[in-house]
Amino acid sequence: MKERTRRGKLIVFEGTDGTGKSTQLKLLHSLLEKRGLPVVATREPTDGTYGQQIRNLYVNRHRYSREEELELFLADRREHVREFLTPNLDEGKIILCDRYYFSTAAYQGALGLDPETILQQNDFAPEPDLVLLFQAPLPVSIDRITTGRGDTLNKFEQREFLEKVAAIFAAIDRPNICRIDASGSIEEVHRQVITAVAALLSLHSTALFSLN
Ligand code: ADP
Ligand code: MG
Repeated sequence: MKERTRRGKLIVFEGTDGTGKSTQLKLLHSLLEKRGLPVVATREPTDGTYGQQIRNLYVNRHRYSREEELELFLADRREHVREFLTPNLDEGKIILCDRYYFSTAAYQGALGLDPETILQQNDFAPEPDLVLLFQAPLPVSIDRITTGRGDTLNKFEQREFLEKVAAIFAAIDRPNICRIDASGSIEEVHRQVITAVAALLSLHSTALFSLN
């Protein structure tokens, strides 16, 4: 790991489906861009070969064991670290990443694997400077998925499963985690995100807010 030499910042967006991660990532991305900061956005699973295989799992899960799924997530992340995260951190970029290894721990953990072991298996991946952990009551996030996004719940999104996922997220204790109360309006959540990011970047949050 290049923890000592890296100059950029890695900000990851974590939490169960429908908590508003992707919405907030976009808002933060355009805000930081407007401020002229060197920001890039990415997501996991990625759009690479392994990432595409993982996205197919949403339709065809039964073809893989949870161990095989975990291997795919780790392979996708190794590629992401090598080809995107490390080079961008070395260039001093602020990376906004939609899901990271906490999601692997929570989702594969909810399938019965040990979350702590999964976190340890990810020690090849750069530690985030800030983990924005989005938390909202399950009925709120499920309603956003079904009503807001107009989707039906896929197999990773069934209620009991999501309860387990949320419980694992809630129990994860790692440095740099900032818990975001994602139950409020988009604007309210955005303010919490800005406050956390301003602190990380040593900016006054008013400077980020006021020039909107
Ligand atoms: P996630 O990426 O965490 O799954 P999304 O950002 O895709 O969540 O949001 C899911 C749906 O909920 C979208 O339709 C989005 O417009 C809506 N949404 C996001 N944040 C809020 C919020 N704070 N209040 C109400 N609706 C929201
Ligand atoms: Mg999303």
